[in-house]
Amino acid sequence: MIIHNISLKSYNTFGLDYRSDYLVRIKSESEVLQFLDSDFSRISPLLIVGAGSNLLFINNYHGIILKPEMSGISVEEDLSDYVIASAGAGVIWDDFVKWAVTNGFGGIENLSWIPGTIGASAVQNIGAYGEEVKDYIEKVRAISLENGMIKIFNNTECQFGYRTSIFKNELKGKFIITKVFYRLQKNRKFNLSYGRLEEEVKKSGEITLSNVREAVIRVRKQKLPDPNYLGNAGSFFRNPVVDIKTSEILKKEYPDVPVYRHDEKSMKVSAAWLIEQCGWKGKRIDNAGVYEKHSLIIVNYGNATGKDILELSTIIQKSVFEKFGIMLEREVEVIE
Ligand SMILES: Cc1cc2nc3c(=O)[nH]c(=O)nc-3n(C[C@H](O)[C@H](O)[C@H](O)COP(=O)(O)OP(=O)(O)OC[C@H]3O[C@@H](n4cnc5c(N)ncnc54)[C@H](O)[C@@H]3O)c2cc1C
Repeated sequence: MIIHNISLKSYNTFGLDYRSDYLVRIKSESEVLQFLDSDFSRISPLLIVGAGSNLLFINNYHGIILKPEMSGISVEEDLSDYVIASAGAGVIWDDFVKWAVTNGFGGIENLSWIPGTIGASAVQNIGAYGEEVKDYIEKVRAISLENGMIKIFNNTECQFGYRTSIFKNELKGKFIITKVFYRLQKNRKFNLSYGRLEEEVKKSGEITLSNVREAVIRVRKQKLPDPNYLGNAGSFFRNPVVDIKTSEILKKEYPDVPVYRHDEKSMKVSAAWLIEQCGWKGKRIDNAGVYEKHSLIIVNYGNATGKDILELSTIIQKSVFEKFGIMLEREVEVIE
């Protein structure tokens, strides 16, 4: 279904009321092919929007937006220790987590309550509480927007990294993901090592899939603003990755700075801590501000424009750079 001149307010979690010239809702792979055969496919630019929970529009969009709405969750293979489950790209991520937990399939319960769609989970390599979805994605089914060919990407071909994948880099805008396949465990080895998660789970009793899910949701609800009431896109910046020497110098000067191992050669620094040290937590400039409970989140207090939010993020980047010599990178994707 093609809609002309549509408001994007309900298609981005900042709640920004920009408009798009066209929006196409796509419910199946054959609808992708129909779209590619139509004159609309010649309109550019083109953008795929899941739930818009990682996007910042700063203008009306003079192009075409594709909205994947492929539905359906199913068990594709039932093996002795695990199952391969698939979900359509338009399925809400947390509905899939709920389905997995209800059916006793483990692995993704720490990723409960992350906004967005299945398709974007693979684009973004979503992560939380010490888990990343890359460790559970078996393969990704996608259609080339250039020639309509179906391609299956195995896990290695997805080139997953910290909040990134091949779909955000080399193949950005070139494929529409239609379905994602996940390898879920029948006998879950829980990962409760992050922060106080274990303590929170034990408040509900035994360590079970559903108690872990409930604990994660409780903590997230306390900590994160609900986009239905306060527009935001979760973490606005990535945690910067620095080499070990830089992290040691930082730690010497600021013993409290939280740093975590990223890989053998590098460490991740808490962006939230850096921003907080610059005095930004809870600060507001007109209609945009830094969330009072979490300094990594920029919120729209109601009437901010995309440009207000972008400007605030640039000021924050500058102040962190001036104090620590570290340039924060945006996690949120700015759509010009
Ligand atoms: C309150 C809040 C909390 C959050 N917490 C977390 C968190 O804990 N961890 C985390 O990792 N993220 C978090 N996020 C960010 C966000 O939820 C994720 O980035 C999510 O995966 C975005 O999904 P989406 O469907 O909204 O994608 P969009 O924002 O719509 O799109 C993201 C990117 O994926 C592309 N894309 C989307 N669907 C497809 C498709 N089918 N095929 C090809 N490309 C596609 C888009 O073009 C875009 O480049 C949070 C956001 C909010 C608002």
